[in-house]
Amino acid sequence: MKLPQFDYQAPQTIAEAIELLAKYEDDASVLAGGQSLIPLLALRLARPAVLIDINGVSDLAGLSLAHGQVTIGTLTREYRAEESDVVADRLPLLAAALPLIGHAAIRSRGTVGGSLAHGDPAAELPAVALALDATFVVRGATGERIIKAPDWFEGYLTTARRPDELLIEVRFPAAGPGTGASFVEVARRHGDFAIVGLATSLTLADGRISDARLALAGVSDVPVRAAEAEDVLIGEQPSAALFGEAARRATAGLDPPADLHGSADYRTKIAATLIRRGLRGAADNASERQANG
Ligand SMILES: Cc1cc2nc3c(=O)[nH]c(=O)nc-3n(C[C@H](O)[C@H](O)[C@H](O)COP(=O)(O)OP(=O)(O)OC[C@H]3O[C@@H](n4cnc5c(N)ncnc54)[C@H](O)[C@@H]3O)c2cc1C
Repeated sequence: MKLPQFDYQAPQTIAEAIELLAKYEDDASVLAGGQSLIPLLALRLARPAVLIDINGVSDLAGLSLAHGQVTIGTLTREYRAEESDVVADRLPLLAAALPLIGHAAIRSRGTVGGSLAHGDPAAELPAVALALDATFVVRGATGERIIKAPDWFEGYLTTARRPDELLIEVRFPAAGPGTGASFVEVARRHGDFAIVGLATSLTLADGRISDARLALAGVSDVPVRAAEAEDVLIGEQPSAALFGEAARRATAGLDPPADLHGSADYRTKIAATLIRRGLRGAADNASERQANG
């Protein structure tokens, strides 16, 4: 399907991009990898008057580790993050999630910031960002704002970013060797968006769980932190019985949406299975990472 007509702007610097956003605000859409925006345009679900293509703004791409944080520039392609040694060593949860996003061709264009700015509640990266309490840095004509993940996801495809602001980078706390992770999901086919997905990060100290972070995708209009499960896990030794109890607690109050892919009850049952499976995977991963130092 042909795209609707729009004006096209291609800034080369962050300052130029922000100037354009301040000028056009709601009339503009930022174009990053285009893997979500272009389908929205083709289906006429978005009709921006202007596209601000940030692909020429090289300062927006890159990945670095400093002061216990991994900072990922918004324009960093998903495949670049997937190939990064820093991500493999210090962000095991992101490393587990990235290969599940669509297919290689999509990840070669799609950007980390694009997925998080889009804010699809069934997508992998929003659940990862919520589980890890990531920090979002946005900049507009009036300055910079720092937004924590729980405040970033406001509703279905809606984030705390204002129309005149550009997402600049996302900061994740770097994991130590005692932290392991898993991303598990049920999708109709490999590469499809998850019906339900689960991001899990577990830290083990002296054989007990000292930190637990779980976030579900596909169960609400935003990713959802499974705080009840986390409370059950802290201070305990990993076991099948403990993981079963965490799954029971986390799903007791869940009220997922029903659609043609599954009823609310089906999604709740998948979530319980994924929590048991995800916790086992994350605990095994933590033990392996500890053993490898
Ligand atoms: C066939 C197919 C399958 C897919 N499967 C999956 C999947 O399984 N899981 C998954 O998570 N995703 C999936 N995706 C989406 C993919 O991950 C996208 O790459 C991602 O959602 C958006 O990233 P993008 O860089 O392409 O952003 P774009 O499409 O360019 O932009 C997405 C939105 O974010 C805004 N935006 C982008 N960057 C910024 C910025 N710096 N500041 C402010 N606003 C910004 C845009 O204006 C737009 O509203 C799939 C896509 C396709 C086409």
